[in-house]
Amino acid sequence: MLSQRSVLITAGPTWEAIDPVRGITNHSSGKMGYALAHSAAQLGAKVYLISGPVCLDSPDGVFTTKIESALQMYQSVHQHIQKFKIDIFISVAAVADYRPAESAKQKIKKSNDELTLKLIKNPDIVASVAKLDINRPYTVGFAAETQHLERHTRDKLIAKNLDMIVGNDVNQQDTGFGSDLNEVIIMTKNQTFTLAKQNKSQLADTIITAISNNIKENIS
Ligand code: C5P
Repeated sequence: MLSQRSVLITAGPTWEAIDPVRGITNHSSGKMGYALAHSAAQLGAKVYLISGPVCLDSPDGVFTTKIESALQMYQSVHQHIQKFKIDIFISVAAVADYRPAESAKQKIKKSNDELTLKLIKNPDIVASVAKLDINRPYTVGFAAETQHLERHTRDKLIAKNLDMIVGNDVNQQDTGFGSDLNEVIIMTKNQTFTLAKQNKSQLADTIITAISNNIKENIS
């Protein structure tokens, strides 16, 4: 289904260093991104995976690059797009929105009662890809929402100029971050599908099939 196609996927959290031993991160396990990489490779695609720090093995046949910070992920994504002809970009990573303005070279010592951390905004990686004029891949984002799932997911599809977005409600107890299950909606500019709760590997197959079908519809 995806032979001759190259797919770039980001997965996992990012790690924004405060000093050599501390950082800001989140609970993303990387499971959804790794499942998508596995599924796309099984369907014949050449798959590049750029992963933040997670405890998962690279899926068979997938070219994996490990990074830590959002800035490293941004650079790696754009290097891959320049170097390889990427047809599909799937941005699953839970990228930190902010990073410490400065990362201390040495471990910060406990001294004052208060410590103020200045944070600055990270670039939005998926939006930067979706606005490329040259070599723009078919671009898919994810939205983890706690309320108004459909409205917030649609807002992100439009604001980030995506071709498709996968939204999930992270308030649900047994799905989302860290879980093996997920319950999502898939949205394009013209269509919205609500999928039943399923495990992340089944869901990965469904999402890859939806991407492949939507690309075919757009071509024909
Ligand atoms: O705006 P929000 O973080 O909810 O958007 C989620 C989507 O944007 C995901 O696809 C995520 O991978 C991507 N993202 C990104 N760079 C950021 C923040 C989010 O690529 N700095």
